[in-house]
Amino acid sequence: MTIGHDAEATVASLRGQGVKAVRLLYTDLHGVARGKDIPIGHFLELLEDGVAFCSVIMGTDLRHNPVVGGEEGYVDFSVRPDPETLRIVPWQPEVAWCLGEAWTLDGSDHWPSCPRALLRRVVERYASRGLVPVVGPELEWFLCKRDAAAPNGLGRYVDELSRVYTVGAISDPLQINLRTLLWADELGLKAFAGNHEFMNSQYEINLKHSAALDAADRAFMLKAAVKEVAATEGLLATFMGRPFTDQGGSGFHVHLSIADAEGGNAFAAADAELSGLGMHFIGGVIAHAQGLQALLGPTVNAYKRILPDSLAPTHANWGHDNRTAFCRVPNERGSRARVEIRTGDGSACPHLIVAALLLAGIDGIERELEPPEPVVGDAYRMDDAHAGTKLPGDLGSALDALEADTWLVEELGQELVATFTAMKRFEVERFAAAVGTFDPEVVTAWEVEEYAAHL
Ligand code: GLU
Ligand code: MG
Repeated sequence: MTIGHDAEATVASLRGQGVKAVRLLYTDLHGVARGKDIPIGHFLELLEDGVAFCSVIMGTDLRHNPVVGGEEGYVDFSVRPDPETLRIVPWQPEVAWCLGEAWTLDGSDHWPSCPRALLRRVVERYASRGLVPVVGPELEWFLCKRDAAAPNGLGRYVDELSRVYTVGAISDPLQINLRTLLWADELGLKAFAGNHEFMNSQYEINLKHSAALDAADRAFMLKAAVKEVAATEGLLATFMGRPFTDQGGSGFHVHLSIADAEGGNAFAAADAELSGLGMHFIGGVIAHAQGLQALLGPTVNAYKRILPDSLAPTHANWGHDNRTAFCRVPNERGSRARVEIRTGDGSACPHLIVAALLLAGIDGIERELEPPEPVVGDAYRMDDAHAGTKLPGDLGSALDALEADTWLVEELGQELVATFTAMKRFEVERFAAAVGTFDPEVVTAWEVEEYAAHL
C-alpha cells in the first residue's frame, strides 16, 4: 500500500480541526472494538505496515481466556488502518476514529479470522455478479446501572412499564439517547431517529441503509458509541440478547436488499412482493438458517430471548410483514423492497453476521432456491409442520448446526469458524460448570458477568 496524497490531506485537515490522536479500532469475533490510540503525528507512518497486536485476541473469550492461538506461540498480526473511515469523535473532538483490518505481519494476506476482511470478500463476490448488497442495521439495547441490590447486580436507568415510543426527559432523564443519536449522526453513522423501546430502559437508534461494508462499520461503531457515551455517564449499555429475567430482549434486525448494476433495487418486482432474485435470497437464508443461528445468537444468553411472543423467530420461515418470522418481508415495494432478518441479537458481531447472511443469500441465488410457503399469522402458535424447521434452542445445539453446514463453514473460512466455535464451546462448558442446567426463562448472574459489560 502506498501512502496516498488523500490520507496525508485528510490527516492535515484533522490536525487543523484540533485532532490530536487517532483511535485505531478493529472488530474481533465478538464484535468488540479493540484498538490502540496513536498520536496523530505518528499515524501516517503506521499506514503501510499497520500496528501489531497479539493475534490471540481473535481467539480470546470474554473471560480473558486465550482459547485459540497459543498453540502457534502467540504470534502477532498487524492491523492496517483504512484511512477512508477516519472521522472525528463528536463527544471527544481531539480524537478521530479509524477502522482497520487484521493482516499477516508480512502483509501477504488478511488474517483468516478478521470479520471485516471476510465481509469485504463477500461483497467482492457479489460485485463479480454486478450486484451490490445493501444493508440496514437495526439495533436495540438496555441502559443499565450497577446496583448491588438489583437482581444479578444489574439495575435499570429508567424503570417504568409502557414507555415504548416515548421521547424526552421522562423516558430519558439525562437525555443520553438524544445526545447519542445526535453524536452518532455527526460521527457519520446516518442515524436518523431514536426512541425508548418496548422494555423498561430499552432504547433504539435507527440507522439508514447503505452498502454492506459501510453499514456493518456503522453498526459496529454505533455499538461502541452507545457503550462509550453510557460509560461517561456512569451507566452500562448492553446489547446482550436478554439481560433481565423480567424483560424481553434486544434484537439486531438486519434489513437486506441488493442493488443491480444500474443502482436499481434487484429485490423489486412490478407485479409481486419480491423479485425472483429476492425470493431465491430468502430461500438461501432459510436453507442455512440453522447454521446461521450460532452467529446471530452467539451467547448462552441469546437463547433466552428467542422465545414465543418475543417478536424474534423460533423457526426458520418467512412471512409478509410478519414479526414472528425469521425473514420478514416488510410491506414496502419498489426501491424499498427488502427482507428483514429478525433473529439476531445485539451481541452478534456486525461484520460476521452481515457476511454470513449475504453468503446464505448468494447460495440461494446461485442455486435458485425457492423458499417454502410463507407463514401467515402467529408462527409461535403453529405446529412445526407449518411453522418451519425449529431453530436451535441453545448455543451448544447452534454450534453443532453451524459445524454441520459445511458449505457455510467453507465460505466463512475453516479457521475463522474453528476459532469461533472453540471459544463458544468453552463458554458453554463454563456456563454448565458454573450454573448447571440451561433454563430459558431465567437470566443468571453468570450471564450478566460474562456479557453485560462487553457486549
Ligand atoms: N425487541 C424485539 C427483539 O428482540 C423486537 C421489537 C421490535 O420489533 O422492534 O427482536
Ligand atoms: Mg425495535
